[in-house]
Amino acid sequence: MIDFSFTEEHTATADLMRDFCAKEVIPGIRERDRTHEFDPDLLGKLADAGFFGVTLPAQYGGAGQDYVSLGLLCEEAEYADTSTRVIFSVHVGLVMLPILTWGSDDLKDRYLPKLCSGERIGAFGLTEPNAGSDVVGMQSTADADGDVYVLNGEKMWISLADVANTFLMVAWTDREKMKARDHSGLSAFIVDREMGGVTTGSIKGKLGVRAGNTGWISMSDVRVPKENLIGNPGDGFKIGMFCLEQGRFTVAAGATGLVKACLDASVQYSQSRHTFKRPIGDHQLVKEMIARMSAQYEAARLLWLRAAWLKNTGRANTRETSMAKWIACEHAEHAAAEAVQVHGAYGFSDEYPVERFYRNSKGSSIYEGTREIQKLLQADYALGIRVDKKRSRRLPTAEELAAN
Ligand SMILES: Cc1cc2nc3c(=O)[nH]c(=O)nc-3n(C[C@H](O)[C@H](O)[C@H](O)COP(=O)(O)OP(=O)(O)OC[C@H]3O[C@@H](n4cnc5c(N)ncnc54)[C@H](O)[C@@H]3O)c2cc1C
Repeated sequence: MIDFSFTEEHTATADLMRDFCAKEVIPGIRERDRTHEFDPDLLGKLADAGFFGVTLPAQYGGAGQDYVSLGLLCEEAEYADTSTRVIFSVHVGLVMLPILTWGSDDLKDRYLPKLCSGERIGAFGLTEPNAGSDVVGMQSTADADGDVYVLNGEKMWISLADVANTFLMVAWTDREKMKARDHSGLSAFIVDREMGGVTTGSIKGKLGVRAGNTGWISMSDVRVPKENLIGNPGDGFKIGMFCLEQGRFTVAAGATGLVKACLDASVQYSQSRHTFKRPIGDHQLVKEMIARMSAQYEAARLLWLRAAWLKNTGRANTRETSMAKWIACEHAEHAAAEAVQVHGAYGFSDEYPVERFYRNSKGSSIYEGTREIQKLLQADYALGIRVDKKRSRRLPTAEELAAN
């Protein structure tokens, strides 16, 4: 049976986030975007509203909701501003869900309640100055020394780098494999700022996500207890890819919200702006832009919803999540460019939000795996070059999230 309806809980979750953003995000967003200012109070407010615990079981303080709820939160967050959705992609998608899936009981007990309450804010360190898509090109190392691993290296383009206090880091534990570019030499760790040796800074002059925090992290002899290894030594690549899969899902849902924001702004403007004695929405070429945005929204939404259903039911979803991310982000870029066009010269200024949508839309085709990386993955699945292998871990199903 195919059921396209949302539950009351889904609708209430989306409404809650819409109302939250109307009160806490939208009023100051133009100014913060202009001044490249991250609102640090936003994290506490999101935590207090219970949003961070959306897909966390009750035993860790969460609401035990499903992945459709998480997607709807991301849609609504990015409808207001991309920087708010990025918080979910990182804190929930790239950090909390991986700890929930890959962490030992001890790691889950120590970190998940604090990440849920906002006492700890997570960031994800994969990218380095000289290695983004080419993950095995990274240079960060983690050397075993008694009860600890000693981490050294530089991470770049890290969302929330300068505001987070807990970092999911990937580094080489096997230097021979590092030389051989064999990804089974990578491991993943939970690193706290308080462990010492962690320095961070913010990146200035960004094209978009200006109200968000993006930065760099430097690790100098950071002594990380061995209990803070996630999974086993050598699982770092698998865990990194798992993190990206959850992050991509949130980006797909968020980009869908951005398409909707472009559509709504364009509809509103085309009904009020007149040329040649008619609202511009009466001109066929403007209608064409609106029609396409409308179709792009529906298509993007169906793709992330399908990925959510696969996650809810414990099925493999790498291919579907990647496709949802690729298509939603491409649609968001196109819709934002068209929304500027619909607004004419006014779309060229920050008097209207579509200028910000246009700049923000570009990032999602770069982070969490570029558009090209998603295309390669899709082609490899279609050509039979890539097939899903049996996984050692999978996300908890919706039923499992709700059960405890
Ligand atoms: C706003 C923002 C936030 C980010 N947040 C995080 C974060 O929180 N954590 C984190 O770890 N990283 C983060 N990143 C980094 C992001 O994931 C990387 O930028 C991304 O993976 C691409 O890597 P790169 O920039 O090094 O580009 P490169 O890998 O150098 O790629 C450059 C170009 O070459 C193309 N290319 C590369 N390889 C191939 C290939 N094999 N075939 C075809 N084309 C190819 C790419 O698609 C791209 O167009 C963030 C980036 C941005 C912009």
